[in-house]
Amino acid sequence: MGPAPRRAVRLPHAGPVRRTRWRNWSRTVSAQPVTVARPRDEAEVAEVVTRAAAAGRTVRPVGSGHSGTAVAAGDDVSLDLRHLTGVRPVDPARGLVAAGAGTRLDALSAGLLELGLAVANLGDIDRQTLAGALATGTHGTGAAFPSLAGSVRGLRLVLADGRVVTCSPEQRPDLFAAAVVGLGAFGVVTEVLLHCPPAFLLAADEHPEPLEAVLDGFEERMSAADHVEFYWFPHTAVAMVKENTRRPLAEGADPLPRWRALLDDEVLANGVFAATCSAGTLVPGLVPSINRLSTRAVGRRRYTDLSHGVFTSRRRVRFREMEYALPRADLPEVLREVQRLIDRRGWRLPFPLEVRVSAPEDAWLSPAHGRATAWLSVQQVAAAPFVRYLTGVEEVLVAAQGRPHWGKLHTRTARDLAPLYPRFADAQRVRRAVDPAGTFASPHLDRVLGGVLGGGDAPTTRAGVVDLREGAQSVHHSPL
Ligand SMILES: Cc1cc2nc3c(=O)[nH]c(=O)nc-3n(C[C@H](O)[C@H](O)[C@H](O)COP(=O)(O)OP(=O)(O)OC[C@H]3O[C@@H](n4cnc5c(N)ncnc54)[C@H](O)[C@@H]3O)c2cc1C
Repeated sequence: MGPAPRRAVRLPHAGPVRRTRWRNWSRTVSAQPVTVARPRDEAEVAEVVTRAAAAGRTVRPVGSGHSGTAVAAGDDVSLDLRHLTGVRPVDPARGLVAAGAGTRLDALSAGLLELGLAVANLGDIDRQTLAGALATGTHGTGAAFPSLAGSVRGLRLVLADGRVVTCSPEQRPDLFAAAVVGLGAFGVVTEVLLHCPPAFLLAADEHPEPLEAVLDGFEERMSAADHVEFYWFPHTAVAMVKENTRRPLAEGADPLPRWRALLDDEVLANGVFAATCSAGTLVPGLVPSINRLSTRAVGRRRYTDLSHGVFTSRRRVRFREMEYALPRADLPEVLREVQRLIDRRGWRLPFPLEVRVSAPEDAWLSPAHGRATAWLSVQQVAAAPFVRYLTGVEEVLVAAQGRPHWGKLHTRTARDLAPLYPRFADAQRVRRAVDPAGTFASPHLDRVLGGVLGGGDAPTTRAGVVDLREGAQSVHHSPL
């Protein structure tokens, strides 16, 4: 069975028929959807999906475009859920709330705080939409804490046939297990049921430590506080460690003075860092000295504040990123191997590598599925060449049974990924059952999840077989 022919129909809740160019945050991907639909409620989402499917068109839900891969890129109907926002109490005493799929994570934290609640764990930024962040397995750090998906107790989804269904661990458990970290491949999430702890503070302790000492006692070191992570600047022997410990709200905050927060986050972390990155890009030979100077200049910082303000910060320096989830115990050896590779190749790298940890998860397509995980993130300034660096490091991470972050650059295909995910075939089965005609298919999903039409690994469209390393994809430009 081939794809149904497309009919040029006008969709409801869509903007004027004018192909507007869409670009993601890191400028690694662009697309030109035929239609951008901005439905105002769930019924309108269902109407758009039903009409698009009947006309043989494809639909791609899009969040705030913070994924570095083409996972949100669509060349037909782009579905923007910016109007499906807000936090609704369900049973606040038990920490249960429902949030609109398009709610940004900063607005989610603000809405939860009004109910005396908080998100259990967050990543580095809070500009993503809730559904977008969930779809790629967005995570923070914490040896005993899962990613954002670990807080989800149920989803409302619009399926390809226009039906609105609820799924949870009890109701349609297979659909839930597949769709909670679902890459937008199983349906359009309209609302998320979340379990949230009471609002809490984080006591932050940020300081440098010798890298080798951190790697030698890695498991214990990463469990020394609730949320531990570290950055390693190449060409130095220093780990910049961040330890965040959860404290009850009643203890009271002890935030950084406003001038110090501004100096650290806006001037040093973004302004000076942007300048040093530019200098390092123009004169790569300067990079090792700049990195050593930067790590020496950073002192200890201690403060206590509301959790979401400590978990997240602003990232204004645009970068390209790859991140892999690894078996946790293997991280020290893998990072040492990456260090040796950087030295051997003589790369000059101004951006740090970031190491985080998370607990095993049930979601079938979570990169942390079924195993205690360490995440290794490799970043490069947007203006600098990055393909050789990222693909070189990727070989090391792949050899270590790493699973790529779905929202960050990687070169893996469904064929590579299937053996790494014990429930990959189950997820493909659920996808074929709920979207047999490939309404939510895209060239990128063909590549990473396999095609829907004809089953198995077969790509739905020709673009799915193009080698992305060449940057030669027909619709979406994605150089890695
Ligand atoms: C500066 C920066 C910092 C970051 N920090 C972290 C971090 O600390 N930890 C981490 O894990 N990741 C991090 N990321 C990656 C980011 O969290 C993910 O790529 C996330 O998916 C982006 O969310 P979004 O709202 O921008 O979604 P998009 O990138 O727009 O879309 C992502 C996916 O969600 C799907 N989607 C969107 N809405 C819906 C819906 N309603 N229903 C079904 N599917 C939907 C899309 O189809 C797509 O598959 C970072 C990215 C950047 C640029």
